[in-house]
Amino acid sequence: MNKFAAMGERIGEMLAGRQVTVMEVCGTHTHALGRYGIRQLLRGKMRLLSGPGCPVCVTDAGFIQSAVKAAHSGWTILTFGDLLRVPGPDGSLQDARTSGARVKVVYSPLDALKLAQANPAENYLFLAVGFETTTPAIAATIKQTVYAGCKNLKFLVGLKLVPPALQALLTSGEVALDGLLYPGHVSAIIGMEPYREVASQYRIPGVIGGFGPEEIMVALTRLVELIVTDKPTVVNAYRQAVRPEGNSQARRLSAEVFNSVPATWRGLGEISASGLIIRPEFSEAALAAEAPELDPPPVVAVPSGCRCGDILKGKLLPSECQRFSKECTPRTPLGPCMVSAEGSCAAYYKFGE
Ligand code: SF4
Repeated sequence: MNKFAAMGERIGEMLAGRQVTVMEVCGTHTHALGRYGIRQLLRGKMRLLSGPGCPVCVTDAGFIQSAVKAAHSGWTILTFGDLLRVPGPDGSLQDARTSGARVKVVYSPLDALKLAQANPAENYLFLAVGFETTTPAIAATIKQTVYAGCKNLKFLVGLKLVPPALQALLTSGEVALDGLLYPGHVSAIIGMEPYREVASQYRIPGVIGGFGPEEIMVALTRLVELIVTDKPTVVNAYRQAVRPEGNSQARRLSAEVFNSVPATWRGLGEISASGLIIRPEFSEAALAAEAPELDPPPVVAVPSGCRCGDILKGKLLPSECQRFSKECTPRTPLGPCMVSAEGSCAAYYKFGE
């Protein structure tokens, strides 16, 4: 028996016939669980549900609508590639590009600033979507944009914070969980303290895990130990990347540029203090400074029949959506969960259940 299978056996022994329900908060974990066959390995022992940890998936359809409208109003849209094909009420950014709008994929926010400075006659809009991991780099770029006096680059901000969404989900009681697998990359910024609050408030243990197969299995083994011994606490099983206190410098940078505000999450609705807005000192970089009709984006309904919202709450598995792998495939996505590289539906389609 290889080491990997032995770890699965060990989990089974600890559970002694019981099946537990664990939420992998992060989309990167969702894909890794599929890619390495961990879901199959733990079948009957652990039910693994996806959570609200795919930033593109939780972005409300109104954000896409604002971005598409901006694209049709002369802005050159700069976006990470995942957002390109997410359908909105007026189509996707890809559709806008096909009909002649200027939409470009960039790989970092700094690329956006370089483009804007190199082409001062063109008006650029950067779509800022992501969690705590992405926020510091975007904050740094907004500061640079303002300090450099770059007037032709604006930001439409859809950045979100993970802990308030988790708390909202657990408060709703819509899904019963035995444990949480926390994402290594977000944890590297926020540290362990926000999870300790979740553990003590909801009596749910959690483990921070890395993204390699062995790292995930180690984290899940530690999580099962906490579950079977009834210890609602938090363990860091990814010490090579996550310090208990997180990265205070990165958090300071984010706090310098952004304030927290209520934000609308796909499937979860409005959650207080779960989104970010550019602070008044840097507000000239916000799209609102030039197009207040598009920023903040409106709240709009998701395409009918798409159950992404329920999947992001752990209420439904992708394969339980009636459209999964029929009308909805990665080539014909009906919702962001099938588009994003971190989306659950895309993971189930690629790797199986
Ligand atoms: S399979 Fe498609 S339609 Fe169903 S929830 Fe996923 S993205 Fe939405």
